[in-house]
Amino acid sequence: MDNIRFKALLMAMGRQEKEVIFPENKASEYFGELTFNKSAMREYLTQEAYHQVMSSIEMGVKIDRKIADQVAAGLKSWAINKGATHYTHWFLPLTGATAEKHDAFISPVEGGKAMENFSGNELTQQEPDASSFPSGGIRSTFEARGYTAWDPTSPAFIINRTLCIPTVFVSYTGEALDFKTPLLKALYTVDKAAVDVCQYFDKDVVKVFATLGWEQEYFLVDSALYMARPDLILTGRTLFGHASAKDQQLEDHYFGTIPQRVMAFMQEFELEAHRLGIPVKTRHKEVAPNQFECAPVYEEANLSVDHNQLLMHILDNIARKHEFTVLLHEKPYQGINGSGKHNNWSLMTNTGENLLTPGSTPKSNLRFLTFLVNIVKAVHDHADLLRATIASPGNDHRLGGNEAPPAIMSVFIGTQLTNMFNLIEKSSKRLKLNAETDSELLKNLPKIPEILVDNTDRNRTSPFAFTGNKFEFRAVGSGQSCAPAMITINLIVADQLMNFKKDVDKLISGKVHKEEAILKVLRQYIKDSKNILFEGNNYSSEWIMEAAKRGLSHHLVTPVALQAFISDKTINLFERNNVLSSRELIARHEIRIENYTKKIQIESRVLGDLATNHIIPIAIKYQNTLIENVKGLKQVLDLKTYGKLSQNQMETITEISEHVSKIKTFVNEMIEERKLANKIHEPLDKSMAYCDKVKPYFDKIRYHVDKLELLVDDEVWPLPKYREMLFVK
Ligand code: ADP
Ligand code: MG
Repeated sequence: MDNIRFKALLMAMGRQEKEVIFPENKASEYFGELTFNKSAMREYLTQEAYHQVMSSIEMGVKIDRKIADQVAAGLKSWAINKGATHYTHWFLPLTGATAEKHDAFISPVEGGKAMENFSGNELTQQEPDASSFPSGGIRSTFEARGYTAWDPTSPAFIINRTLCIPTVFVSYTGEALDFKTPLLKALYTVDKAAVDVCQYFDKDVVKVFATLGWEQEYFLVDSALYMARPDLILTGRTLFGHASAKDQQLEDHYFGTIPQRVMAFMQEFELEAHRLGIPVKTRHKEVAPNQFECAPVYEEANLSVDHNQLLMHILDNIARKHEFTVLLHEKPYQGINGSGKHNNWSLMTNTGENLLTPGSTPKSNLRFLTFLVNIVKAVHDHADLLRATIASPGNDHRLGGNEAPPAIMSVFIGTQLTNMFNLIEKSSKRLKLNAETDSELLKNLPKIPEILVDNTDRNRTSPFAFTGNKFEFRAVGSGQSCAPAMITINLIVADQLMNFKKDVDKLISGKVHKEEAILKVLRQYIKDSKNILFEGNNYSSEWIMEAAKRGLSHHLVTPVALQAFISDKTINLFERNNVLSSRELIARHEIRIENYTKKIQIESRVLGDLATNHIIPIAIKYQNTLIENVKGLKQVLDLKTYGKLSQNQMETITEISEHVSKIKTFVNEMIEERKLANKIHEPLDKSMAYCDKVKPYFDKIRYHVDKLELLVDDEVWPLPKYREMLFVK
């Protein structure tokens, strides 16, 4: 039996769950043991170094050279005590993955001996050759160096006996080549802007930090089956595959019991995550078969972004041990729910308050409303940028697939808050404010919390939903980094808060009472931005029509959506806040456009090759068996019986021929379109050609291949089928 699919199936079906070796001590004792966290620092750093690192983390104070040497020495002894032999700067280049370049601690000394070395310089800076990372033409070839610089706000950690130091990655000319640099800038900007606004309400607020709690969805597939699917290996998704007779229609997967083999995998990756200080908390089955989710307790956004990146890496590593492969693609299977990564986000103060929690006093409620309305306005004004932020070829399959938020950006705030917005909007004439407490409106505000706490008012179809004390941005793709979403959300909100402060201060300087000024500005914002609010079913076709009426944009494909990334509005926004320059934005846009083109190009090649080399030969072979059978029948039967009995086979023989010939024609046409597209130089035009001319052949070819899957003998079909990949566990 040389059918690779059957070999893979046999392996998959014979799997035993792997044993997980649990530590002797309890989780609270090993949590974070592989990170250079506060308690490790207290143990390994001098008082002076510890305090400088702390003020750098909390207040962004720069660490001087002398202290850096002390920190490096402490970090080195800690890491070596934990068994580390190498160190690396760990950064987030624009590929969306992580990058590392390892160096050993060891350096030779006299007498053929060696000793472990690690200086302040090596801690704070490394110079990886930047020329092989995407830069969108920022680095000219003669200056291909880049450097990485330590980010003390994200603790160093040990993985595979290697000390990893989270860093930013910039070119020698100072341009950001990573996600962390603009993220840190956006977080700094939102901190400043939010503190300024908080000062209207509470003088004790001097620091605001963004929080992020992500929910990571993923599929598991047995690694033998995965290895037998070249499309999964090369593109992350299945390009062919007839729907399984049973998939998710019985709705029996969501929150179901987790199979033992999967459980062992989960326990081991959670163990690893906890040792690395990633506070993963929730695990459950998702809607689709073999789809799962995990979520941590939220953390400060920069740290949480790093933790998600690290978790994706751990998932992959640990899955291998358990003979699974983790699929982080947004849509690995056609007709089955895709995977997303919800980004739960809010703003917290140094006084321990969440600015998105409705308060219990009129004053704190006015603050809550201030932030809420400004966030809605920010999303309204920059909806296109938000859409562009999460655009990718994988996510194009998911958004609008009646299972995930559509490509139309809108905000859900729930009935109570909608009523509140209406009340504020309409109250203009009646509202006379002298003192903050005697306002009719302010007296109404305290009613919010009780109703919200109950939290029955949830909408799971909105791309940007208020969920009681945080917003949930649901359009992020499962394989994407959270960084771009966090950069955009924090930046647009920061910028909006600054506008708000200007508007309010102007009124105040015109002798308007502070609270009245705030309400007046909020009222105007509600009027300006209310068409982004939608409470209904975002998956419905009515919403698409309604959104069009409202003039909201609906960009279905990545190349079009990405245009907002380099609009004048976006460039101004990023430049005036010093987060990215127009040169950096244009470079990033170019990288993403090219990435789109390359991904579609790869899919198209894999699809063509598979159809031609795997599918057609097998179909023809099977067809020959049928032909032989018909010939045989003719020899043994009389003409009349033969005519009757051979009809079925004859039909199948013809059908196979028809499908094969269609596949051949379409593959050839697709190749011709690809040749034409490849001749185009302008990156955007090229990506549009791939999108409009090449990609449409995918479905056309797939249709016939999937028909063949039903016709051809199961014994010879070469690719693992949907029912096998989705249900073997
Ligand atoms: P679900 O959306 O599936 O109901 P939860 O409400 O339990 O899930 O929360 C999902 C994520 O939201 C978790 O990672 C949780 O830590 C995070 N979260 C909760 N509060 C906040 C907050 N204030 N800021 C950011 N994330 C938060
Ligand atoms: Mg959620």
